[in-house]
Amino acid sequence: MERMAEILRRHWGYSDLRPLQREAMASVLRGRDSIVVLPTGGGKSLCFQAPALGLAGLAIVVSPLISLMKDQVDALTDSGVAAARLDSSQSPDEQSDVVAAIRRGELKILYVSPERLLMNGFARFLASQRLSLIAVDEAHCVSMWGHDFRPEYRQLGALRDAFPKVAIHAYTATATKQVRDDIAVQLRLRSPEVLVGSFDRPNLIYSVEPRADDGVRQVRAVLDRHADESSIVYCIRRADVDAMADKLVGAGYRAVAYHAGLTDDARREAQDAFIREEADVIVATVAFGMGIDKSNVRAVIHAGMPKSLEHYQQESGRAGRDGLDAECVLLYGAGDYGVWKYIIEQSESEQAKRVALAKLGDMAAYATGAACRHRAILRYFGQELDGPSCNACDVCFGDLELVDDALVLAQKILSCVHRLEERYGGDYTAAVLTGSREERILTSGHDALSTYGLLADEPKKRVRDWIEQLAGQGYLAKEGEYNTLSITPSGRRVLRGEETPRLLKPAVRAARATAGTPLDSWEGVDRGLFDTLRVLRRGIAEEKKVPAYIVFGDAALRDMARRRPTTVEAFLDVNGVGEAKARQYGDTFVAAIREVCRSRDLETDIDPEIKAVPKPTRRGAKARPTVDLARSLVYERLDRGQSLDAVADAIGKSADTVLEYLLDYVREKKLTSPEPWVNATMFGRISEIARVTGTARPIHILRQLNGLVTYDEVKIAVACIENGE
Ligand code: ADP
Ligand code: ZN
Repeated sequence: MERMAEILRRHWGYSDLRPLQREAMASVLRGRDSIVVLPTGGGKSLCFQAPALGLAGLAIVVSPLISLMKDQVDALTDSGVAAARLDSSQSPDEQSDVVAAIRRGELKILYVSPERLLMNGFARFLASQRLSLIAVDEAHCVSMWGHDFRPEYRQLGALRDAFPKVAIHAYTATATKQVRDDIAVQLRLRSPEVLVGSFDRPNLIYSVEPRADDGVRQVRAVLDRHADESSIVYCIRRADVDAMADKLVGAGYRAVAYHAGLTDDARREAQDAFIREEADVIVATVAFGMGIDKSNVRAVIHAGMPKSLEHYQQESGRAGRDGLDAECVLLYGAGDYGVWKYIIEQSESEQAKRVALAKLGDMAAYATGAACRHRAILRYFGQELDGPSCNACDVCFGDLELVDDALVLAQKILSCVHRLEERYGGDYTAAVLTGSREERILTSGHDALSTYGLLADEPKKRVRDWIEQLAGQGYLAKEGEYNTLSITPSGRRVLRGEETPRLLKPAVRAARATAGTPLDSWEGVDRGLFDTLRVLRRGIAEEKKVPAYIVFGDAALRDMARRRPTTVEAFLDVNGVGEAKARQYGDTFVAAIREVCRSRDLETDIDPEIKAVPKPTRRGAKARPTVDLARSLVYERLDRGQSLDAVADAIGKSADTVLEYLLDYVREKKLTSPEPWVNATMFGRISEIARVTGTARPIHILRQLNGLVTYDEVKIAVACIENGE
């Protein structure tokens, strides 16, 4: 494992492993078969790529998509790893070059499509070479129970006979046990080590909003929070994609459309534009995404409800693969369920129809539910969230507006279901509750029920929504062909007043004003420098004809704009910069950093670990003594209550730098009031939000306050709140 640490540092510039990577690498190094289940962005590739460099011989990686292989091989080559791919899209010459390189023992990692691998002569040729391991990527494709079964993957069972002495490792993001067990059987794994990671993605901030009109306004509100960054907008139908893309382009967004109705060329063009960051937004149907591992997608917006939580988890999971904060927003309309139901009923066999409808029901329950989003998704996959709050969803942030008397309201609805003898569906029940004069109600005499017209003040649609919410939270069950409502045991507890559901207020929430302010992990990052580096990265990527994130990920660029290294040596300290990258790009990036820092008089060669004054711990550890001159000059002025801008002007540093000093100042002096930098009324509101929601996460507070405060003010206030804890 020590070797691994060295390899990671050298080739990838990473200093830490993510959860389960160590265990997964250990299995590979020991040559024990394994199944590794990690969510999208969990870092599966590294689990076999790093050991492949530490072991003797050639590693074979089976992968289902050519675009995916190409990306991975480009990224590896760029990091100085001897890797190549072999698939049917290459010319005979290209293919024989690769084969020759294998014969000469020059390659460490070979990506190969399943058909190519199992071509008779080729398997025999490989068997005569020294192999280090076999990795099957996207391994759920072997299982019919998965959501992406591929017949050519089925034949991979033959690998065991072809390479009896080589360990086989399977990697997937699909969590269900059924799929996992099937992978072991299909690939004929020998008592594999099974490693299942947590499916929670704490950096993804989930929220759900009822869709108003066509949703464009809400989509734009999210996009504006991530201006000039990459976002994906998913729509249900092709026509919705075209309409949404047109409106966004009309409003000045750099957006492109992607769906199966376009020609191959048009699709490829749209995808390339998105990957090369010539377009910020791709508007797409589910057809888009598989095989795209762009790591810096900052928002995934669903303008319509997907048909299952598997789909939702996978699609929303394309946000924030680099581990930085990203948003996943689901807009759902009352009609979405019906659209899918219609589609499902059109096309599939009876059994498939039942399964699909049940999944659709679970998805609708999520959309209308009012329970923690992270917990809801995890539970669906059979896992539990640690702790009471995820601190990263609209519910836990307290963004949802709940009705005050949910218990009474729920009791009215449930007793109506009871009076109707649990023989009617949601629509009928809502009609009775709102006192409808419909023929069917009058003829069956239900206008005489004691619950008739109990909610006559509410529109029927709203009552219908509440019924869905009660079903979503398990107080009502829907049964049979007509979705007849019945009361569950927990529903009975509500009737007895022992349990209170959460019911949402009608959707009056205006689209949040766009704060247009960056996310949390911009701490210490100079935004202007970051933008310059991005332009530089795009230029290099275009020249090399690779996606921008292959040159450097967003996390690495941010760290550059935070540390601002002025030597190639210091450049190597940036997280995500390994030796090969430093050699190739070090001079160029360092020159740009120097230039920008000189012209804007920014502080350089910052070590964030030393610079950040540790937060005072509960044990009362003393803050690190500070000796630098600029700091004492700043502190002196802060003592006199000067404003940030005034201090910045006086000492000739940027406002960003002074803010960092001010935050240190607040922490060192243990200030619990941010005046005069934040006024008392605003501090009161910020504290109230933090208290009510139990979170002092700046991005959340910023969203709540609708652009009434600046990000700087929020940060200062939060530092004071933390001092008071
Ligand atoms: P997966 O295949 O599981 O979806 P990837 O292997 O593509 O995920 O990794 C997602 C991103 O995380 C990539 O940009 C990768 O370079 C990065 N990454 C993986 N492991 C680490 C690590 N230990 N430290 C920092 N970044 C990592
Ligand atoms: Zn939550």
